[in-house]
Amino acid sequence: MKKDFFAARMALPVLAVFLLGCCLLAALAQESRQAVRADAAADVEQPVKLIALTFDDGPRRDTTGKLLDGLAQRGAPATFFLIGEQIVGQEDLVRRMEAEGHQIGIHTYDHVTLTGLNRADFDAQVDKTRQMLKNILGHNDFLLRPPYGLYDPGVQNKAECPIILWSIDPKDWGDKNADRETAHIVSEARDGAIVLMHDIYPASVEAALRVVDELHGQGYLFVTVEQLFAARGIELKPGEVYNDAYP
Ligand SMILES: [Zn+2]
Repeated sequence: MKKDFFAARMALPVLAVFLLGCCLLAALAQESRQAVRADAAADVEQPVKLIALTFDDGPRRDTTGKLLDGLAQRGAPATFFLIGEQIVGQEDLVRRMEAEGHQIGIHTYDHVTLTGLNRADFDAQVDKTRQMLKNILGHNDFLLRPPYGLYDPGVQNKAECPIILWSIDPKDWGDKNADRETAHIVSEARDGAIVLMHDIYPASVEAALRVVDELHGQGYLFVTVEQLFAARGIELKPGEVYNDAYP
């Protein structure tokens, strides 16, 4: 009996400590829930940073196919400026690009400089490729990227579509070093940028997918060129030249 009484006397402080501990834990849990809610609110309020990857000179079956696989895994749409003569026999790749949410543009029939061309020669490069894409995809609204980014008033007058250049150029045709290209693009990345790459080099494909992973981690959303300008309320006009959609 005496023993039970003693045990009961000892139990009171233990109970008090236990209850105090429960209160502290509940308070901490409440605080952390509030912190989570505050973070979520901050995420929603932060404007989304948009960036457009663009790929010239393709399609090339092995490298473009690998790039499409990687972009699909990451849910990242891009824009492909295609060479007409390389479309032949690779029509399935073109259909796959569009089916997977990518945008398609014209990069001439066999990669010539467009400045100084007469109407017939210009059409043999741009309109010929446009008709090929129209036959494959059933529509006719393709952007133009002139090779080497070279244009003049003649090119602008004949284009019959918006001309898209770029604001970030890692020169991926140079040393073909995926580490350097990735670092270049990530360091230059900013909201509204258009990145120039070439899906015909394995190193470019590797760099592009690493860029997507790194910039996803920084809160960037990858979009097509069309989506980029639409999001900014900028109407793309035929013959006009666009380098970026910086705010
Ligand atoms: Zn090119």
